[in-house]
Amino acid sequence: GTAQQKKDTKVKIVLLGDSGVGKSSIALFLCHGRFSDKHQVTIGAAFLHHTIQLKNGESMKLHIWDTGGQEKFRSLAPLYYRDAYGAIVVYDSNNVETFNSLKYWINEIKSNGPRNCYIMVVANKKDLPQKLNAEMVMKFCQQENVSFIECSAKTGENINTLFEKIASRIYSRY
Ligand code: GDP
Repeated sequence: GTAQQKKDTKVKIVLLGDSGVGKSSIALFLCHGRFSDKHQVTIGAAFLHHTIQLKNGESMKLHIWDTGGQEKFRSLAPLYYRDAYGAIVVYDSNNVETFNSLKYWINEIKSNGPRNCYIMVVANKKDLPQKLNAEMVMKFCQQENVSFIECSAKTGENINTLFEKIASRIYSRY
């Protein structure tokens, strides 16, 4: 499409990963600029909007979908994945079990999402003791052909950066 169409379109990004890894905290930090330990548990999917500034001076409106706890049922409606330009697959780097679920979530988006969906694995809770070897995780991400970044929704480290990266990659694809 034209540059104007790109500007006006809301770009859908979905958050995936086990319950408790920090998906809501990441989205809330991006939108509100702070960490809140006491946000309400959402029932059903939650939506957040955020305009991200790209390095080329353009901006992109992100429409961020959070599962709102439905990941507990391990099967999200196809509607959730439909039309997603990007998927953020989150695990808790302090919790090995949540890393073991990554393959499941990556497979979910690869089989239910658009063929061209940009997938980024996010290791959250970088502020806590790290229980996984970053090199091993990077190797896994290379094999899966997905991007990888570490962040903390508590300190805010890399939160903006990760969304800037996703937005610019999506911008250059469409
Ligand atoms: P979700 O179920 O994936 O949406 O996870 P939440 O955003 O609800 O976070 C689960 C718990 O982890 C909450 O108690 C958060 O306060 C906490 N949390 C989220 N991100 C971080 C982080 O980067 N560091 C630390 N220490 N705690 C976090």
